[in-house]
Amino acid sequence: MRKPRLMTPGPAMVPEDVLLELARPVIHHRSDEAKQVIVEVSEGLKEVFQTQNDVMILTASGTGAMEAAIVNTVPPGGKALVLNAGHFAARWGSIAKAFGINVVTIDTEWGQTVDPEKVAEALRQHPDTVAVFGTLSETSTGTGHPIEAVAKVVAQTPAIFVVDGISGVGAMECRTDEWGIDVLCAGSQKALMLPPGLAFITVSTKGWAKIDAFESHSYYFNLKAARSKAKEFDTPYTPAHTLILALRTALRRIREEGMENVWKRHTRMSEACQAGVQALGLELFSAKPAEGLTAFRVPEGFKDSQIRNKMAERFGVTTVGGQGKIKGKIVRIGHMGYTDELDVISALAALEMTLAELGFDVEPGKGVTAAQQVLIGQRAAANVG
Ligand SMILES: *Cc1c(COP(=O)(O)O)cnc(C)c1O
Repeated sequence: MRKPRLMTPGPAMVPEDVLLELARPVIHHRSDEAKQVIVEVSEGLKEVFQTQNDVMILTASGTGAMEAAIVNTVPPGGKALVLNAGHFAARWGSIAKAFGINVVTIDTEWGQTVDPEKVAEALRQHPDTVAVFGTLSETSTGTGHPIEAVAKVVAQTPAIFVVDGISGVGAMECRTDEWGIDVLCAGSQKALMLPPGLAFITVSTKGWAKIDAFESHSYYFNLKAARSKAKEFDTPYTPAHTLILALRTALRRIREEGMENVWKRHTRMSEACQAGVQALGLELFSAKPAEGLTAFRVPEGFKDSQIRNKMAERFGVTTVGGQGKIKGKIVRIGHMGYTDELDVISALAALEMTLAELGFDVEPGKGVTAAQQVLIGQRAAANVG
């Protein structure tokens, strides 16, 4: 017997009270009851997104919000600057190209952070840039990017700053209005403690001016339609309102804990996981780890699948490997959303027992000890970056 622990950077674990909401009889989506749910979640989403603007709910995976962000802000032939530093950042470029948008990229080595100075330089070279596309937490490399600093740079230009916060929102500090993020996207299955199926998007005044400047070539993802319905706490088409009901419970949990405390918990879990991994003699992949996950390099002579399969089959801990060009090179442990300090300790315990059984030179308990010391303040967080 083993308990399943879904320690992946999306989908992530869902609390029981949220799951139980999904077992209730389906109500009608235009009923007063359904509307009241949207009234409540609209407030909660503003808190999570740290914005006074409406947060629109889309029935889609996170990529749907990315597509909505692109097709509504940049007209075909318009210029988009993509801050390409990983698998998901590259998706910005792929979507934009699919819609005939002129893509310019700033390439950053995977695992490194985007340099705001390079963004400034690119915007000087490309003053006709309509929008800059970045990533809060690059899930493929486990990297947190300096969104506040990039936002400051973009704010000085006519371009808008669009951020993929799909695995970042709810896990790491992100102050949409204060930092000047113009469009922020998120998905339900990462740090928001829900199954997949909902995407979220909020837009600043500067962002809406871009959207109002042309007629978007999307019907389903037309944000003008979503905006007018959001004003009435409604959606243009049938939403996945059973998930929205579950979202209400997830947001009540976040409100109870407090947004700042949610971020602090993720910072602690991230620092503990990093310390644990390093104490085992493993190397972190990212120069600046994002708070929602920890990525480490697969040690020489081992296969990522050996490690991950054993962790899953023997201990019930599910992790993921690398994507794209780093497939097979890293293991990623997710600790976002409904994850606590002891989940991280469990994952590390499973990891060290797995490595020991596979014959890696490791002393079981070392990683757990280091993580515990971080959690109880007896050890400084790992010095990375
Ligand atoms: C998961 C993820 C996506 C893709 O989201 P889907 O829900 O799979 O469409 C995009 N960007 C980041 C940073 C992610 O973590």
